[in-house]
Amino acid sequence: MNVAVVGGGISGLAVAHRLRSRGTDAVLLETSGRLGGAVGTHARDGYLVEQGPNSFLDREPATRELAAALNLEGRIRVADPLAKRRYVYTRGRLRSVPSSPPAFLASDILPLGARLRVAGELFSGRAPTGIDESLAEFGRRHLGRTATQVLLDAVQTGIYAGDVEQLSVAATFPMLVDLERKHRSLILGAIRAQQVQRRALSAGGTPKLSGALSTFDGGLQVLIDALATSLGDAAHVGAQVECLTRVDGGWKLMVEERGQRAELSASQVVLAVPAHVAAELLRPLDDALAAQVARIDYAPIAVVHLGFDAGTLPAPDGFGFLVPSGEKRRLLGAIHASTTFPFRVEGGRVLYTCMVGGARQPELVRQDEAALAALALEELRALAGVTAQPTFTQVYRWQRGIPQYNVGHLERMAGIDAALQRWPGLHLAGNAYKGIGLNDCIRNAARLADALTDEESVRK
Ligand SMILES: Cc1cc2nc3c(=O)[nH]c(=O)nc-3n(C[C@H](O)[C@H](O)[C@H](O)COP(=O)(O)OP(=O)(O)OC[C@H]3O[C@@H](n4cnc5c(N)ncnc54)[C@H](O)[C@@H]3O)c2cc1C
Repeated sequence: MNVAVVGGGISGLAVAHRLRSRGTDAVLLETSGRLGGAVGTHARDGYLVEQGPNSFLDREPATRELAAALNLEGRIRVADPLAKRRYVYTRGRLRSVPSSPPAFLASDILPLGARLRVAGELFSGRAPTGIDESLAEFGRRHLGRTATQVLLDAVQTGIYAGDVEQLSVAATFPMLVDLERKHRSLILGAIRAQQVQRRALSAGGTPKLSGALSTFDGGLQVLIDALATSLGDAAHVGAQVECLTRVDGGWKLMVEERGQRAELSASQVVLAVPAHVAAELLRPLDDALAAQVARIDYAPIAVVHLGFDAGTLPAPDGFGFLVPSGEKRRLLGAIHASTTFPFRVEGGRVLYTCMVGGARQPELVRQDEAALAALALEELRALAGVTAQPTFTQVYRWQRGIPQYNVGHLERMAGIDAALQRWPGLHLAGNAYKGIGLNDCIRNAARLADALTDEESVRK
């Protein structure tokens, strides 16, 4: 078996690495001049800034396994304890998100009536089966209207930058649907899950991973560099796959690499490219499959880093804040990057990483970088009381930033999986399908690589 992995983001890199570490001949083809896709860390003027993802939660065994295989476990850095606190901008100011049920009831995060309504979740019923509910519909049934508008909307904004009325709860937060199915009430389910975990630990079970918010000592780029080193010559940058054809039970790829066109044969192909690129490659083969893949939408997002000299403003408290859509602001939220990972700035500087756009206001991302930096600063002034002038700005714009798993996504995925059966040896990977987080991409990459190698060893 030889595998061509198309796309050198974290998904493609993790698939190719796992295949090669299990003895399979795999090459990776990446169209741009660098590996990593959305992931990339840049050092400039005493700041270490992330162009896309900022961190991952250390709770996914596949991510740990990958870090261990690359000898990176010692380079994982967990967030400062101060970053445990998070804020939501609601009713005119930043309010701390309470960390326990009693603290929630005593807090001012929601008006009293809305807090009591959340407590009433204990009496929630189950949804009728077979309905693909939006996150908002699910939230209103369990938590009430206000908690959905403020808290659930803020949570999804921090992950999907999406529209709470459009996102599918089953596709974006499957654990919530699972809790409801098993326990009816989310609160009851969470209590029971904690009890089970406590019993398992006291019976000598292996403790789960810490779940801590983490990165590496040189930012997430460390993971990409280690994958690139491990793949060596098997990873080709500047290699654009232009078309894909089925030939004699295998595959032929037309690749343009540094101005030269070449054909590459492979028995298996993994398309780890964004959905719109996968759709273009699939169209000549299977128009219906391509149409389903093309329907997966993305929300644009801009990442605006603003850096402030030491002593010009107090270090912001906590991980950062999120802004629910009902507030009608132009910021989705901001990460207090220097509080969360102090090693990412030199000498007491302060770094805010602001997020703009999303499904809510996609048009904002079309602005130029100077306008985005000005907008982010105005919003930081209004929402977080930042009065100092930044001496560092860095903006990254992602026109196809975050895939949107809207209502209908799971049905579409079932259709895509069924259609792929018509094309043996052709596989889709990447954040457009079954999870957008780095952990999801790495877990799904490992599963795919293992399925391919296991299938091959059965054939032998
Ligand atoms: C702003 C932002 C913030 C985020 N924050 C977080 C976070 O904090 N934590 C987290 O877990 N996740 C976060 N995510 C999500 C996560 O970063 C992504 O889901 C993940 O990196 C996607 O990886 P991927 O390999 O699936 O896709 P991509 O990174 O998009 O990689 C696809 C690759 O395919 C290449 N390609 C395209 N066309 C071709 C072709 N024809 N031939 C060859 N190659 C091609 C592209 O150049 C690209 O390198 C964030 C995402 C963004 C955009």
